[in-house]
Amino acid sequence: MPRKLAAGNWKMNGLRADLVELKAIADHAEGAAVDVLICPPATLIAACADMTVTIGAQDCHTAESGAHTGDLSAEMLADAGAKAVITGHSERRADHGETDATVAEKSEAAYRANLTAVICIGETLAQREDGTTLSVIDAQLAGSVPDSASAANTVIAYEPVWAIGTGKVPTTEQIAEVHAHIRERLTDRFADGAEFSVLYGGSVKASNAAEIFAVDHVDGALVGGASLKAADFTPIVDALG
Ligand code: 13P
Repeated sequence: MPRKLAAGNWKMNGLRADLVELKAIADHAEGAAVDVLICPPATLIAACADMTVTIGAQDCHTAESGAHTGDLSAEMLADAGAKAVITGHSERRADHGETDATVAEKSEAAYRANLTAVICIGETLAQREDGTTLSVIDAQLAGSVPDSASAANTVIAYEPVWAIGTGKVPTTEQIAEVHAHIRERLTDRFADGAEFSVLYGGSVKASNAAEIFAVDHVDGALVGGASLKAADFTPIVDALG
């Protein structure tokens, strides 16, 4: 069985004053029945590395070190206390022109530094309306997930771009169709494909989490806005466990 994971992506939110929320999430995670991962901005990673919750980063460079002003390597993130890193989030694909090939390289950089890669994929609204969702997912899985991926070093997050931060959530049938498809592609390609955790992301909140978690092949969530406050996120953790 894949491991159940409730993950929070704080995106470009969070000052040191917000560590109180992270501490409350960590205290809750300690007694939780599922794995909990929080990806705060990189500026806060070292400050929460000793908390009782797994900490991740939101991006990494492909290289180990070098002349890349402003970038952070997977090794630096691991050194600061991260255990995981999100790769290929749609906001990075859109804002920074990251391609599937870049995402695969960044995921390999994560493995090199012993970080779990949380690899994000998902269709845009135009692709959903065109009826090309499953072929987009196929191309992203083929291009973004390295051959060296395994259930031990990789989590897949299905995040339809049109559901992120919009309050729009796909129907449970739509989520079921894509997650079953992802599972099939993973089992076709990887010996342990049945064991990868596959998360859903996009407008997950306490009020819809249980319904989403009941869908086959949904092993947890990657939560944005509702992960910033312990009061919003801890009910999502509990809905999974
Ligand atoms: P929201 O939960 O704010 O829709 O964001 C989802 C997301 O992009 C997580 O990575």
